[in-house]
Amino acid sequence: MLAPIIGAVLIVALAVVLIGRTSDGLEKLENISEQEHQTGKTLSDIANQLAVTHAYIHDLLASVDAETKEGELYDESKKLLFDIHDIRDKIEADLITAELVPDEHALATNLLGLLESYRINATNALLMATVDAALTRRVMSDATTQFNILNSSLLELSRLIDERLDKNLATQQTAMLAQVGVFAGLFIAVVIAMLLIGVFLARILTRDLRGLAADLEGLLDHYSPDVSTDGKRRLVVDTLRYAVDRVGDSYTSLERTREELARSNTELRESFATLAEREYALEKVNTELAETVARQDDLIQAQVRAEEARDSALQTAERANAAKSDFLSNMSHELRTPLNAIIGFADMIYAASFGPIGSKYQEYARDISLSGHHLLDLVTDILDISRVEAGKLELNWERVDLQEIFDACETMLRNRAADAGIQLEIELPDVVPHLETDEFRIRQILINLIDNALKFSPRDSVIRVSAARHDDGRLTLSVRDSGIGIAEEDIPRILEKFGQVRNSHQHTHGGVGLGLAITKLLVELLDGEMAISSEVGHGTTVSITFPEHRTFFPPGRGASYC
Ligand code: ADP
Repeated sequence: MLAPIIGAVLIVALAVVLIGRTSDGLEKLENISEQEHQTGKTLSDIANQLAVTHAYIHDLLASVDAETKEGELYDESKKLLFDIHDIRDKIEADLITAELVPDEHALATNLLGLLESYRINATNALLMATVDAALTRRVMSDATTQFNILNSSLLELSRLIDERLDKNLATQQTAMLAQVGVFAGLFIAVVIAMLLIGVFLARILTRDLRGLAADLEGLLDHYSPDVSTDGKRRLVVDTLRYAVDRVGDSYTSLERTREELARSNTELRESFATLAEREYALEKVNTELAETVARQDDLIQAQVRAEEARDSALQTAERANAAKSDFLSNMSHELRTPLNAIIGFADMIYAASFGPIGSKYQEYARDISLSGHHLLDLVTDILDISRVEAGKLELNWERVDLQEIFDACETMLRNRAADAGIQLEIELPDVVPHLETDEFRIRQILINLIDNALKFSPRDSVIRVSAARHDDGRLTLSVRDSGIGIAEEDIPRILEKFGQVRNSHQHTHGGVGLGLAITKLLVELLDGEMAISSEVGHGTTVSITFPEHRTFFPPGRGASYC
């Protein structure tokens, strides 16, 4: 399929080139002929004009006789001048400016000199014709000689130019013929090649058909020997037609396949374009991701720096806190010694240990002792808090019988409860557990809580101090009153140092708001947890729960549960 197309394209290309070259050559030939024609015309014009002028002068001179007056031919000589000028212009404009080779150019230029000499002699002859006949004849004879030379020069020039242009013409024609020959050769070669390829293709294409025809004829001969030769031929021809149709079908299907392939190719290109777009978008996302990661790195570094700064600030604060606790601990200790002395001496004065004193002084001594105790309690609380915060509070772990602890607390606070008109009830399970704890501190905790309950409970109310064991082995001690209660939002505050609820009772009961803070710290030191549940106007319950591993039961005695 491809070979005939290439052949056709080659033939067309060759034809185009051949036509182009031929028209070029013809144009050149035309140019040369035109040039030859123009130059020949110019030369013959010049020769004619010169001949006319020369003949006219001759006639004028011949007409001169005795009656011709001097100067009569002056005007004619001026006219001659114009004619000669005209001829000279023609030589200069049409001849010398033409494309001449050096020899021709020299000859053409020489014509001008000859023409001038001719003009001078002819003019002189005209001017002297009435004056000196003999001289006129001689001068005119010179002019005639020059006229002849001019004519033969013009002829020579014409011959040279003709010769040159003829030679050019011949060369151009030969070149053209050669080109036409070459292209014709090529053309014939391509046509022959095409014919050969056509024959070759025809042989290939018809090989199978010819084989098929032979096979069919063989089969028909074998199976239907009776069928006439014409009948066989018809059958073979029909079969071959069928085969050709099938080939046509195959060609159509091939065409369809080719179209599908072209479509697939287009789709493939579109897919490539889409892929390229996606790749570009992906690169963009990657870049953005890298930028985000870089920003996150910056953030992480800033966070690390902030954490370092916070740690260092924390250490500084912890150091400052430890220094403060040290200071408070030392100061409290320094204060307690003289305070104890003051209280001791005040009590001695009050008791009139060294002889009787006036009742007023006795009253003052009691005030000094009470204020001293108050101050001592405060200093003791501050000392305890600073010791706990400085981690310097030493605990004396031992197994403690809760019964004993509860009894001691009751003994200590019984009188105060009685003074306040409040009933103090102790509730312990039948089997009282033992607690692994610091006896002094657990007592301090319970006294603090009972003391608060006494402070904020009304007369004729009951305060219950109880212990109960949970199923999981934990132990809870609680102090419950039915006093003024604490609002829920105030509970976190009263657990802080110096935290108090602002109400009228506060003024009555004094205190500085350290009791619950110390109690909570001590409970936690003893592995316990403190919780406050309260309702304003109905009372407060403070519970302390210790883990199972801190509780024990004396051997041989069962447990009781809350
Ligand atoms: P304070 O020395 O002032 O009693 P606390 O820390 O022991 O210091 O108590 C802080 C505040 O908590 C008290 O001033 C009081 O307002 C409140 N509070 C403590 N216990 C009770 C209670 N049982 N009933 C009502 N209010 C209480």
